[in-house]
Amino acid sequence: MKPNAQPTASHFINGAPVEDPAGAPLDVIYPATGEVIARLHEATPALIEEALESAGAAQREWAAVPGRERGRILIRAAEIIRARNRDLSRIETLDTGKPLTETLVADAASGADALEYFGGLAASITGEQIPLGGGPGGDFAYTLREPLGVCVGIGAWNYPTQIACWKAAPALACGNAMVFKPSETTPLGALKLAEILHEAGLPAGVFNVVQGAGDVGAVLVRDPRVAKISLTGSVPTGRKVYAMAAEGMKHVTMELGGKSPLIIFDDADLEDAVSAAILGNFYSSGQICSNGTRVFVQPAIKEAFLARLGERIKAGVVMGDPLDEATNFGPMVSEGQLRLALGYIHKGIEEGARLVTGGRRADRPGFFLEPTVFADVTDEMTIAREEIFGPVMSVLDFNDEAEVIARANASEYGLAGGVFTRDLSRAHRVVAALEAGTTWINTYNLTPVEMPFGGVKASGLGRENGRAAIEHYTQVKSVYVGMGGVDAPF
Ligand code: NDP
Repeated sequence: MKPNAQPTASHFINGAPVEDPAGAPLDVIYPATGEVIARLHEATPALIEEALESAGAAQREWAAVPGRERGRILIRAAEIIRARNRDLSRIETLDTGKPLTETLVADAASGADALEYFGGLAASITGEQIPLGGGPGGDFAYTLREPLGVCVGIGAWNYPTQIACWKAAPALACGNAMVFKPSETTPLGALKLAEILHEAGLPAGVFNVVQGAGDVGAVLVRDPRVAKISLTGSVPTGRKVYAMAAEGMKHVTMELGGKSPLIIFDDADLEDAVSAAILGNFYSSGQICSNGTRVFVQPAIKEAFLARLGERIKAGVVMGDPLDEATNFGPMVSEGQLRLALGYIHKGIEEGARLVTGGRRADRPGFFLEPTVFADVTDEMTIAREEIFGPVMSVLDFNDEAEVIARANASEYGLAGGVFTRDLSRAHRVVAALEAGTTWINTYNLTPVEMPFGGVKASGLGRENGRAAIEHYTQVKSVYVGMGGVDAPF
């Protein structure tokens, strides 16, 4: 039977689901079959206006709610999400095609972690007191950590629920309101989040969802009532959004693409290194921004690494119905993304990389691409330079530490990086030298909410998660307090 994922309405504005069939139709396609499973409508200008107006009005009241109470609502939402994890995971699977075995543990669950974490911090978002000399009774200053106002969140399609939560949780904890625009490819998860936040007691207007493509995003970004934009997306979109935000001198967080290095020294635990390369290239069918898609391996273990990787792919990959919990490898999100990845595979072959395994579209409905491994990849090849955002791993050779660091850093991107070695000093030296915002030693792609996440160079700026995120959803006001007389020259 064809799955049905039709939501109550396309948008969630001012505390309620809202529909306006005048908006252009937006079909939601189940990537495992190519079938339409829901029809939504893009937001009309009137609905965008309603969302921004209600967010502005609600924000002022929300900022006056004590942090403890704001936090309690977010924590309640986290509890509801956990209680409904299976239903939410099913929706995420239908929206993205990712296997249920993944969505059950990585999507709504990670969103709940963010709501709980920032809910816990909400009462502790404070400024500091700065003594200015003169002993007790002397002048001092203090700072107020104020919310920014109305924030706009714009999401990518790979982790729709997680992205919505990673933006909403710190924004709301700090006393901001948010208008969130999901990717038009995956509009469903954010609507569920909005429903749950309101069920948990969030006042109407504090979190709104409007659907639409990039043009709806651009209207939100340009609106003078908006104080901050947090985007998860590609570098080209990031450049456009950052430029538009600059016009209005707005705050931004940019979580953009990457081409991250995973460096495996010959003293590494081979089995763990292979596991990390699998996680960092094939989880979510490779559609993860921080993936270690340039796998640098030292020659002494290269053939053993490739052999073990090949064996594990052959014996372990279960491609199939993502709703079946035996499946561990799902389709790509869309026909378009599948074709992009196939284009890169052809380029890899043309430019002389050695295709070790995969490389073809699977012979089944939907957008399935075989897990693909290239070896003998060199730095100039297109597949080693450009983000593919699909299940395509490039294995490159390297000889020594200095060389691999230089080559790892020779990229416009700087999102993430990882190193596998049993030599602890080397591990710390290498991550210190990597030009990347997020790094891992002897593991890969773990992103707990406690740890700040984000990139450097073209991969973005600002950080999500951790205490660092609070700085990106608040601004500091300084207050100088004069305790004595005022000296003036005349
Ligand atoms: P896109 O850049 O195509 O889109 C991202 C979002 O921006 C979408 O909601 C899109 O709308 C919207 N958008 C597009 N143009 C504009 C515009 N001019 N103004 C405002 N909004 C706009 O990225 P994808 O959705 O294809 O996601 C994949 C990319 O995201 C990859 O590069 C990946 O690396 C990156 N990513 C980064 C992560 C990180 O944390 N660093 C995490 C996950 C992904 P629509 O698509 O609906 O038209």
